[in-house]
Amino acid sequence: MAPLIHNLGFPCIGVNRELKYAVEAFWKGESTLVKLEQTGRELRARHWRLQQDRGVQMVPVGDFAWYDRMLNMSSLLGCAPRRFGFGGKITLDQYFQLARGNEAQGAMEMTKWFDTNYHYLVPEFDAGTSFSIGVEGLFDELTEARQAGAVPKPVLIGPLTFLWLGKGKRADFNRLDLLPALLPIYVEVLRRLGAQGAEWVQMDEPALVQDLPTEWLNGLRRAYSELAEAGPKLLLATFFGSVAPLAAELKALPVAGLHLDLQRAPEQLPSFLADFPRDKVLSAGVVDGRNVWRNDLDASLELLEAAHLQVGDRLWLAPSCPLLHVPVDLERETDLDPEVKGWLAFAVQKLRELTILSKALEQGRESVMTELRAYRRSRKDRKISPRVRNPEVHKRLACLPADADRRRSTFAVRRTIQHEALKLPLFPTTTIGSFPQTGAIRSLRAAFKQGRLSETEYRDRMKAEIRLVVERQEDLGLDVLVHGEPERNDMVEYFGEQLAGFAFTRNGWVQSYGSRCVKPPVLFGDVWRPGPMTLEWMRYAQGLTDKPMKGIVTGPITILQWSFVRDDQPRSETAMQIAVAIRDEVLDLESTGARVIQIDEPAFREGLPLRRSEWGAYLPWASRAFRLSAAGVKDGTQIHTHMCYAEFNDIFPAIVDLDADVISIETSRSDMELLEGFGTLRYPNEIGPGVYDVHSPRVPKVSEMVRLLEKACAVVDPDKLWVNPDCGLKTRQWPEVDAALTNMVTAAKTLRHSRSATGAW
Ligand code: GLN
Ligand code: ZN
Repeated sequence: MAPLIHNLGFPCIGVNRELKYAVEAFWKGESTLVKLEQTGRELRARHWRLQQDRGVQMVPVGDFAWYDRMLNMSSLLGCAPRRFGFGGKITLDQYFQLARGNEAQGAMEMTKWFDTNYHYLVPEFDAGTSFSIGVEGLFDELTEARQAGAVPKPVLIGPLTFLWLGKGKRADFNRLDLLPALLPIYVEVLRRLGAQGAEWVQMDEPALVQDLPTEWLNGLRRAYSELAEAGPKLLLATFFGSVAPLAAELKALPVAGLHLDLQRAPEQLPSFLADFPRDKVLSAGVVDGRNVWRNDLDASLELLEAAHLQVGDRLWLAPSCPLLHVPVDLERETDLDPEVKGWLAFAVQKLRELTILSKALEQGRESVMTELRAYRRSRKDRKISPRVRNPEVHKRLACLPADADRRRSTFAVRRTIQHEALKLPLFPTTTIGSFPQTGAIRSLRAAFKQGRLSETEYRDRMKAEIRLVVERQEDLGLDVLVHGEPERNDMVEYFGEQLAGFAFTRNGWVQSYGSRCVKPPVLFGDVWRPGPMTLEWMRYAQGLTDKPMKGIVTGPITILQWSFVRDDQPRSETAMQIAVAIRDEVLDLESTGARVIQIDEPAFREGLPLRRSEWGAYLPWASRAFRLSAAGVKDGTQIHTHMCYAEFNDIFPAIVDLDADVISIETSRSDMELLEGFGTLRYPNEIGPGVYDVHSPRVPKVSEMVRLLEKACAVVDPDKLWVNPDCGLKTRQWPEVDAALTNMVTAAKTLRHSRSATGAW
C-alpha cells in the first residue's frame, strides 16, 4: 500500500486573501456576520477540496481561524482572559475584542509563534483560571468537512504547548498547575469529536522541540495517558525541530501516531526507527512547510525508504509542519522569472510532491522517473545558474577588515558628540518610522507599479505625502522626525526589490497576524546593492525641517528572517552579504546629512534557535551582521535600532553587543515588564520603551503613558529614556495617530516638567 498522505494544516487566508478582506469589511461595519460566516464556509470547503484534489487523503479541520489559532484554542477551552469579563462562551464580537483590543482592556498580548514570523495571541492564566467548552466552531467545522465529502482530521494545539505558550500573570504562579483542570476539557472535546465520527485527532505539540523542564515532561506523560482514553486515535505532531532527546518517551506514550519534522531535523529519524512501536503510525514530515524550494525528492526518498522498510503501512507522509508559513499556489505566479519559478514549490505544489513520494515508495522510483528527472534537472540548474553566484560579493566579504563591525569610539564618547550636535530635550520623542498607509497611498503605489502613473507623478505624490507627515510631526511637537515610509509597501520587500539576489511574487501572501499578510521575497542568489535605496526620499524629507530627520533602513537579520532564504549556503553567509549592502546604504545616508539612522531589527530574536544549546551558534553572527551594517558611520551619527514583540532578557548580552546608540522596543502590552531586565541588567546605551500599542485602534490616555514612563524611570536612567510608540503606525488611521501622538508628546512634556520640578536633574 502507498503511504497515506495527510496534511497538518492549510493556509486559511485564501489565495486572494479573501479572509483578510472579509474580516476587515466586517470590522468596518461594511459587511454582516452572515456574510462573514459565508466566506469562512466557502474558504474551508474550497481548501478541503483543493487538498483532496492534490491527493491528500486526510484533511485538517480546525486550522481555520478568524484571527489566530491560539485564540481559537482559548475560545474552545473557554479561557478568554478573565480581565475581559466575558466568561466561557464568547461571541465573535468578543473574540475580535480579545484580538484587537477594547477601550477598557486593550488587547491580548501577541507574540511570535516559535521561530516564525506568525504572531499568536498569548493565553493569560492565573491560579483561578477555569476551563469549559467555549465556542462550538470546531464541531461545526467537522460536520462541514464531512458533508463536503472529506476524510477529516481535527487538529488541536495540544495541552502542553497551549499552557507552555501562555503566560502566568504572577511570577509565583506555575501554569503547569492548571493541567489537571485543563485535561478534562480536552477529553470532552476529544469525546465529542469522536462521537461526530473523527477517527484521528492531531495534537500539535511543537513545544516539545524546545527545552522543556522535567516537570513539563512528566506532565506530557500524564496528559496523553488521560487523553488517549477519550476515544479518537491521537497523532502527536512535533515540528520546527528535533525531538530526538525525547524519542524513548514519545515512543512510550499511549498515542496512535507520531509526526516528526524530517526537514528541519532529518537526523532524528534513526532514534525513532530503532524499535518503533508496532501499534503506532509514523508520520514523516519531509516536505518543507517553512520554505519555498522544491523538495529534493532523491534525498527524501533516501530517508523514507528506510522508514518504509521498517514501518511499512504505518508510514504516513505530510509536510514538515502546517503549511501556514508558505504561500498557497505557485501557478498563480504569472510574472515570476521562469528560471526562478522552476526552483519553487508553494503549498499546493508541496502536496503534489507528497503524492510523487508516496507513489515512489509503493511502486518504486521507476514509476515516477519523469518527475524525478525534472526535479533533478531543476536542482542542477539552480546550482550552476550565474544568477545565483556573483564572485564580486564573495571577494568583498573576504576582504572586510576584522574590525569592520566596530564603531570607532565607545558609546560614552559617541554620546557626548551626539548630544552636542542634536540638542534634544530630556525624554526626546520620536516614532518608529511609518505613518498611516492610507488607501490613497496604496493605490498610488499600485498605479505606479502597474504603469498607470508616471515616475515623475509618483514621486511628486509621494513627496506630497512626506511633506504632510513632516508637517504633522512638526505640529505635534515631536523631536526626531521620520519621513513616514509611504513608498514602502513592506519593510523587507522594499529593500529586497532594490537589492540583487531577490525575486518577488505577485500573490505569495503569508499570514503574519490576524488579517495582516506579508509577501516574503525569495532570496535566491548572492546579495548586493546596485544603487541607493532610500536617499532621494530622505534628502527631500530633511529639506523640509530643521529637526533631525531619522533615516530608516531594515536590518540584515530582519531581511534574512522575513525572506524565503536560499538553502544552498549557511544563513550566516547570506546575512553578511545583506549586512554589507545595508552598510553601503547607511553610509550614503550619513553622507547626505542624516544625523540619526535607525536600522530596524524586529526579527532579531525570532532568528534564535529554539533550543538554547544552539543559541551560541546564532547570536555571534547575527550581532556581527547588525554591527557590520551600522559600524561604518562617524561617532556623531546616532544609530538607533528597533525591535518589537520579543522577550529580550535572555538575549540581553547580545542586544548590548549590538552597540546601537538607542534601542526602541515593544513594552506597552506587557506593561513595561520587559524593561525590568533592561533595568536590572543595566542597559548601557539609550532606550525607548514603547509607551503605546500600535496594533490596537485604542487611543491611550496621557496618564497611562505617564504611568508607563514613570515605571520605566524607576529602572532605567531617566536621561537615557526616549518616548515612542511600540512600533510603526502604518496600520493605523490618522485620527487615532493624531490623538495618540498628541497624548504621547504631552506625556513626555509632563515628565520633563515633573522631573525638573522635583529636582531630579
Ligand atoms: N520602521 C518600521 C515601521 O515603522 C518598523 C516596523 C517593524 O518594526 N515591524 O513600520
Ligand atoms: Zn516594530
